[in-house]
Amino acid sequence: MVYTQEKKLKIFISADMEGISGIVHSEQVSPEGHDYNIARKWMAEDVNSAVEGALEEGAIEIVVNDSHGSMRNIIPDDLHPKAILISGTPKPLSMMQGIDSSFDACIFVGYHSKAGTGSSILDHTYSGASIHSIKVNGLEMPELGINALVAGYFNVPVIFVSGDLEVCKQAKSILGEKVVTVAVKESFGRTSAKLLPMDEARKRIKEGVKEALKNLSGIKPFKLNPPFNFEIEFLYSSQAEMAELIPYVKRTSGRGVSFTTKDFIEGFKLMRALIALAPAR
Ligand SMILES: [Zn+2]
Repeated sequence: MVYTQEKKLKIFISADMEGISGIVHSEQVSPEGHDYNIARKWMAEDVNSAVEGALEEGAIEIVVNDSHGSMRNIIPDDLHPKAILISGTPKPLSMMQGIDSSFDACIFVGYHSKAGTGSSILDHTYSGASIHSIKVNGLEMPELGINALVAGYFNVPVIFVSGDLEVCKQAKSILGEKVVTVAVKESFGRTSAKLLPMDEARKRIKEGVKEALKNLSGIKPFKLNPPFNFEIEFLYSSQAEMAELIPYVKRTSGRGVSFTTKDFIEGFKLMRALIALAPAR
């Protein structure tokens, strides 16, 4: 393989698991689950396909942040030898740890739709145990939207998203038509889907990343105007009770809280702290 070197691109990849080729059930994405050790290899294969695409379009540095659950899903031996792995949790920027303004583009592999999406594999927003919805400046967000705002904070555009068909639609509606999406499965419900053949899915991820990088200058970083108003609707009132103990966090309803920050990363970190604070019920 001859790689084009003249572009010298630096690429950040955030890899989640629910939207990985072949995955349809929570047993495949939790370490206790029967199929987990196979599914984590599928995850590495989808990521490696994105890495291959990036290398062929001139990437000289690729950082992959494992962004699911324990964030220790990708076995380092399984990752493409040209990519650098960020593994484990907690991390200050969580699913976006490692990004900074030195990167040229950001890629989301294996992402899933927001909580409450109909017919979509393992839909949730950050925490299936506590979050009903999260809005930023009035816009209800899937993880991809909030994480794209983190990338946008550093002036890095999100150029590619893979996952099921529904997350691809959400990516286009939030990030715009120019983001390249690859649907590796079409969901019938929360735990069933029609899968692309694995080789075909990986080929489309690689080709999709190449297409996105060819059009890199046409995709702008995703930003909203400050100040940033976060509205969090929890699943249970007890979770909002804990959240409202924090200064600047206002209770807006039985399950709802809101807060406003001037700096997006400050708001992102407060949002994550409130999710971590939420009791199981
Ligand atoms: Zn996940």
